[in-house]
Amino acid sequence: MLKPLIYRLGSEPKLRLVSIVWLLLSLTPAVWAEIQPSPVPGGIARIPLPNDVDAARFNGSRVLVTIEKGQSIAWVGLPLSTPPSIQQIDTAAGPLRFEVQDKRYETEHLTITNDRKVNPLPMDYDRIQSERREMDQVFLSFTDALPSLTWQAPLAGRYTSSFGKRRVLNGNPRSPHSGLDIAAPEGTPIQSVSNGLVAAVGDYFFNGQTVMVDHGQGLISMYCHLSAISVELGESITAGTVIGAVGQTGRVTGPHLHLSVSLNNARVDPLLFFSAPQDP
Ligand SMILES: [Zn+2]
Repeated sequence: MLKPLIYRLGSEPKLRLVSIVWLLLSLTPAVWAEIQPSPVPGGIARIPLPNDVDAARFNGSRVLVTIEKGQSIAWVGLPLSTPPSIQQIDTAAGPLRFEVQDKRYETEHLTITNDRKVNPLPMDYDRIQSERREMDQVFLSFTDALPSLTWQAPLAGRYTSSFGKRRVLNGNPRSPHSGLDIAAPEGTPIQSVSNGLVAAVGDYFFNGQTVMVDHGQGLISMYCHLSAISVELGESITAGTVIGAVGQTGRVTGPHLHLSVSLNNARVDPLLFFSAPQDP
């Protein structure tokens, strides 16, 4: 419905209208969604725990445990590198086994104009390493706060690259896509998907201007390539708090939000938590 309207206008008013449309879309009521378990690589396993067991570990890391009608449930983030197999979590009552099913992800070829973001110079290595340590520290943290598993989308936009795609950048195979890309014009407000604590704010080599939010119990959301950041390190925020704006900082092909979601230090598909209103 909006597209023909936009096309009829010239270049300058067109830009103005696009901004207005995006502003309106970004103000539409939040769409809330419940977490959807999916025991595949890059997914989440939902495992009911025996009576009197309220903690579990997967590969040595504590996992998120919620309580539903008196029943404890473990939610286990499964790294993309997990093979289809029988895995286990460890509890005080012994190991609990579960099956990880197969999932194939597509390959995507992208061209990045700034080749240094694909093939960094030796002088970039120290910076990249220390930024990785900073982000890993957040991904590895486990706080007691019980996170909400009902989330809202961070913004309205068009999904341009899904989670898990195998990536070839400027002809070089690189790590699979660790998040979801949502395209929107530069400056579009980005909202926090849920309540949490701002655990990192930085301007990183690959991720550009970035905010990491700790929702509790190892559940982290990360927002990358921002043009501006409007929260501070250590700030307590709620679902819907504007944390910054869409930009194209770091390694990008155009303005978009890259959203990563991490559970027990496994990057998982953000679309297991919400579905965003999309531009048709
Ligand atoms: Zn991305």
